[in-house]
Amino acid sequence: MYLIEEITTIIEAQKVEIQAPQSVIQSLQIDSRKIQHAAEAIFIALKARRDGHNYLKDAYQAGVRNFIVSDRLVKTAEFPDANFLWVQDGLAALQKLAAFQRSQYAGKVIAITGSNGKTIVKEWLYELLAKEYKIQRSPKSYNSQIGVALSLWQLSNDFPLAIIEAGISQEGEMQKLADMIQPTVGILTAIGVAHRAGFPSKIAKIKEKLLLFEQVETLIYPKKYIPTELTPQIPHTFTWDEGESSQADLQVLASSAQAAQATTSKSDNSTALTLRYKGEILNFEIPFTDHASLENVLTCISLLLYLAYSPATIQARISKLKPVEMRLQLKKGVRNCSIIDDSYSNDLAALKIALDFLQQQNQHPLKTLILSDIPDFSVAEQSSLRKINSLLAHYDLHRVLLIGPAFHAYSSQLTFEHVLFEDTAAFIAALPELAFTNETILLKGARNFHFESISKVLTAKSHDTVLEINLNAIESNLNSYKAIIPKGVKMMAMVKAFSYGSGSYEIANILQFNKVDYLAVAFVDEGVDLRQAGITLPIMVMSPDENTFESLVSNQLEPEIYSFRILKSFIQFLKAQQITDFPIHIKVDTGMHRLGFMPEEIEALCALLKDAEQVKVQSSFSHLAAASDLTHRTFTLGQIAKFDRFTQELQAEIGYPIIKHIAATSGIVNWPSATFDMVRLGIGLYGVELDAADFHLQEASVLKTNVTQIKYLEPTETVGYGRMGKLARPSKIATVKIGYADGYSRKFGNGVGKMLIHGQLVPTVGNICMDMCMLDVTDITLQEEDEVIVFPDLIQAAKDIDTIPYELLVNISQRVKRVYFYE
Ligand SMILES: *Cc1c(COP(=O)(O)O)cnc(C)c1O
Repeated sequence: MYLIEEITTIIEAQKVEIQAPQSVIQSLQIDSRKIQHAAEAIFIALKARRDGHNYLKDAYQAGVRNFIVSDRLVKTAEFPDANFLWVQDGLAALQKLAAFQRSQYAGKVIAITGSNGKTIVKEWLYELLAKEYKIQRSPKSYNSQIGVALSLWQLSNDFPLAIIEAGISQEGEMQKLADMIQPTVGILTAIGVAHRAGFPSKIAKIKEKLLLFEQVETLIYPKKYIPTELTPQIPHTFTWDEGESSQADLQVLASSAQAAQATTSKSDNSTALTLRYKGEILNFEIPFTDHASLENVLTCISLLLYLAYSPATIQARISKLKPVEMRLQLKKGVRNCSIIDDSYSNDLAALKIALDFLQQQNQHPLKTLILSDIPDFSVAEQSSLRKINSLLAHYDLHRVLLIGPAFHAYSSQLTFEHVLFEDTAAFIAALPELAFTNETILLKGARNFHFESISKVLTAKSHDTVLEINLNAIESNLNSYKAIIPKGVKMMAMVKAFSYGSGSYEIANILQFNKVDYLAVAFVDEGVDLRQAGITLPIMVMSPDENTFESLVSNQLEPEIYSFRILKSFIQFLKAQQITDFPIHIKVDTGMHRLGFMPEEIEALCALLKDAEQVKVQSSFSHLAAASDLTHRTFTLGQIAKFDRFTQELQAEIGYPIIKHIAATSGIVNWPSATFDMVRLGIGLYGVELDAADFHLQEASVLKTNVTQIKYLEPTETVGYGRMGKLARPSKIATVKIGYADGYSRKFGNGVGKMLIHGQLVPTVGNICMDMCMLDVTDITLQEEDEVIVFPDLIQAAKDIDTIPYELLVNISQRVKRVYFYE
C-alpha cells in the first residue's frame, strides 16, 4: 500500500491536484470496465489503441478517486474529491510503479523470455518447484509492456520466489522490461526461425532478447539458439545442447520417442532422453513426444540441475507434467448450459480474469461458479479471507459451489453464499441434485482437483472436428480497425451468417463488452437469437420482410429500408400498432445494384418520409461494389460522391442528423474518404486479411480435426469413391474426420486441398466423402489421433477452389463444434 504522496514521488508527477491527501493506493487499474477495490485504486489513463482519458468518467463512476493522466485538458472540476497526477506518459508511470514495487521485493526473480515456450516453462517450473518454494508468477501469459508491470505490482515478500514472463514484439522494448523486472536468474527458451516484423534481422532479435539478462547472476539457455559471437557475458551460465561435441553443460546424447503400440492410447507416449551432465550419464523418461515439449522440458531440467536437485527427484516430478492450456474455453454444455472451462490453474489473478469473462456472458439468466481451493492462498489468513470475500461480492453470481478442505474449514468466515463439497468426487456424486439448467457455469479449479472430470460430465458430446475461435484475436482485430478510423466515427460489427461462421452470442458478447456501436445481421431470426441471448446493442437487419415485422418491432430490431414497397408496408404496420419514431436505415444503391433506393428516387422518398411520423431515419447507407480492387478507382470514387450527395439532401429534407456509412472492411483500409460517420466491419474482424493494411490481423478461427486411421497401400490400389485416388508409389494414407457435410468442399478432392499435420502440408487423395476424406501422408511421420489443421492458409485454400474466404468460413457446418478461447 502506498500513500498518494508516495505515488506522486515514484512516478515523478509534473503537476498534481490533491483533494484527498489521505488516499492509500493498493491496486492499479487501466480498464474502466474491470474496476475493483475502487476505494484503494488508482486509474492510469493509457494512450494505447484506446485512449484511457475517454474512460475517466466511467472509472470515477465505479468509485475510483485517484487518477494518473497525461492530458492537460482534463476537466478536474467534473471529478469532485478526486486526486489527479499528471505525467508525460501514462505507460511510463505504470512501469515506474512496477519497478519501484520490484525494488521493494526481497525474493529472487526468475525472468523467462524466448519466441516460444515462455508460458509453458513458467507453468512447469511453478509445478516442479512448488514443494520447496512459495512462488508467485505472471498470470496467464501477461508478458507485454503492460502485462509485466501488472505482474510485478503483485509481488509480495510472503513469496520468496517470483517467475515473470517477458515478451517483446519490436526493438526497444526489452530494456524497459529488464529495468522493471531486475531479474536474478534468466531463462531463454527457444528462438523462432521466422523473421518477425518489428526486427530488422534475426541477430537483432536475439540481441534484443538478451538485453533482459544483462544484470542476472545466472542464465540458463539452449546453446544452439545463440550464435557464438553473441555469447552472453554473465558470471554463471548453464547451457544445454544436442550432441557430445556441443560443449554445453548439459548434453543431449540421444532422444527417442517410444511410440505407443496401436492398442494403447496415445497418452501413454513418452520419450527416453539420454543426457550427460558433469561427466555422468543421466536417463530420463518424459511424458511428451513433440519437439517443442522436449525443448521446454530440457530447459526445466537444466534449471533443476543447476539448483542441485537429484536426478531421481527430477524424474519423479517431470513424469507428472501435463500440457498447459492457459486460455479459458467457452463450450456448449448439457441441458442448455454454457461451460467456461478454466481448470488448469487457480490463483486470485486468474480467477478475476475468468470472473470478468463470466460477467460478459449474457446468454443465460443464471451464473454459477464452481471453485476449488486456491493453492498458496491460505484462507486461514485474515487478509486472504478479506480478498476472496471482496472479490466474490463484486460479481452477480447465482450460486457458488466450493470444493476442497481449505474452504471447508473456513466456511463460516466466508461472507458470500456458498455450498461446500469435500472433494471433486463428492461434487460429481452430487451433480444430479444440482440439476444445472440454462446457466453459464465457470469451472475454476487448481490442477490437483482434476476439474477436467467435471468438465467431461457437463460438456455436450461431439465428434472430434472443432472450430477453435480465439476471442482475443477478435478483440484485437476490432481494436486495430478502431485505431485507424478517425475519432468519433462509429463502428458497426457485421455478425450476419452466424458471425461469418464463428458463432452467435459468443461473438456478440465480446463485441458488446468492447462497446461497438451497432451490430448488423441479415435476417430477423438472427437478431431475435441475439436478443434472447441478452444482447442489448442496437441491431440492424438487412433483409427484413413483411412477415417478420411483428418480431422485428417487439425485439427492437431496426430494419434496412430499401424500396418504397417495404417502406410503405412498414409504415402501415407501425400505424396500426400506434408506434412512432421507430428507427430505420435507408439503403441507397450507388452502383452495387443489389438492394436500395436509386439516387434519383430521392425526392419521392423525402416526400414520403417527411410526413411519416411512424419512422425515424437513424442512418443512411450504401455498399461499395469493388472496394478491394483499385483498378475500379473511378467507379468507387463515383459511388462515394453519389452517396455523399444523396445523404446530404436526405438529411437537409428531413431536418435532423443521420448516421452515414458506406465503408466495409476493404473500404476502411483503401478508401479513407469513405469513412463518413460509421464503418461496417466484417471479414477483417474475423482475421482474414484481404487488403494490405499496415497492421497485422490475428487469425480468429482454426478448423481442426484428427487422424482416424493410417494405411499402407501398394501402387496397385486406389483410394476412395470412384477409385479416383491413384497411387504412384507405395503410399501411407491417413483418413481424417472431415467431409463435405462439414463444409469441406468436394472441390478439395484429388490433391487440390492441403492440410497441415505437425507443421507439414499434405494433399488430399481421392474424392472427398460426406464425413471423411483421405490424405497422402507418405512423406511425414505421424500417428493415429494426431491433430490436423484443415485450412493452413484460408486465402490460399479459397483460391484453390475458385472461391473467396467468406464462403469457406460460412460453410463450416453447424455440426462442427465451436470452442471459444480467451485469456
Ligand atoms: C456483409 C456486409 C458488410 C461487411 O463486409 P466485409 O467485406 O465482410 O467487411 C458490410 N456491409 C454490408 C451491406 C454487407 O452486406
